[in-house]
Amino acid sequence: MTDSTPLPAPSAHALNQGGPEISPVAWGMWRLTEDNGCSPQERIEAALEAGITLFDTAAIYGFNGDNGFGDAEALLGAVLQDEPSLRRKMVLTTKGGIEPGVPYDSSAEYLNASLEASLKRMGVDHVELFQVHRPDLLTHPEALAATLQAMVESGKVGAIGVSNFTKAQISALQNFLDIPLATTQPEFSPLHLEPLQNGEFDQAMQNDMTILAWSPLGGGRIASAESTRERSVALRLDSVAKEFGVSRAVAAFSWIAAHPAHPIPIIGSQTPERIAEAADISKVTWTRHSWYEILQAAMGEKLP
Ligand code: NAP
Repeated sequence: MTDSTPLPAPSAHALNQGGPEISPVAWGMWRLTEDNGCSPQERIEAALEAGITLFDTAAIYGFNGDNGFGDAEALLGAVLQDEPSLRRKMVLTTKGGIEPGVPYDSSAEYLNASLEASLKRMGVDHVELFQVHRPDLLTHPEALAATLQAMVESGKVGAIGVSNFTKAQISALQNFLDIPLATTQPEFSPLHLEPLQNGEFDQAMQNDMTILAWSPLGGGRIASAESTRERSVALRLDSVAKEFGVSRAVAAFSWIAAHPAHPIPIIGSQTPERIAEAADISKVTWTRHSWYEILQAAMGEKLP
């Protein structure tokens, strides 16, 4: 017998206790540049029209190996300057802590300066969420906790989170905080299963943290599947996509969001038509059977 009971659908929920409501899908600005055949404002409006309220950026976005640090935030700032009403529709998150050439710095001095520079580039006085982009092994978690807490107390940051931290690093940081970490942002997709398998998702559910899944299409490899593993995942996603009349990408986003932690896929596309597809996520219903089919294709083996 094949189980046909639908898995609960993701829905909008609060970013943190008492915080703003966030959509089950986010839009990311890592790839935000001017020369994409459409304006940054068109992309932002496509995301808002698709029901996306959570917008993810970072101080380093725009960096191309030589320069461009901060350019994505500056582009967003230009859009908000032209159309200030857009800001009220957004739950805005940025990150700091990567310094090219170092490579990581989570000292109070660096993170505070990074936040100030981000706010200035975007022309805003606060962000709803600030995340530490990558763990700095040379900052004691007690010192990092004090820095993040002071950011919240200053009113410049609504909530705090981390990205690319191990489970142990998250626990160590939370231990020194008086407020809960609202988010963790790992890479997660059918092509990158690590946080599902290493306990990070379980920790997030235990601590009521929101998971933001970066590169939900494996950086595009799910859309243009090449390897045997990618093609096997794509084939199974396509059969779900066909059943519900959505694209393969939407099938992948909804597979991510169907996990009981309801991870929020951060869509990376810069094409308005593809961003608009995010609205279709609620069309897909998963069952245990169909969800595990994708997982097993992704693992390349049957579960025992
Ligand atoms: P992704 O959604 O896995 O990949 C997006 C890429 O796939 C784009 O280049 C897009 O091209 C391409 N693509 C090809 N076919 C597509 C289709 N049918 N539908 C949608 N996209 C298609 O995500 P990502 O850009 O790698 O990452 C998403 C976000 O995660 C970033 O913007 C950033 O906010 C966040 N991120 C965080 C970290 C971190 O360390 N915290 C690291 C990486 C990313 P087009 O633009 O031409 O559509």
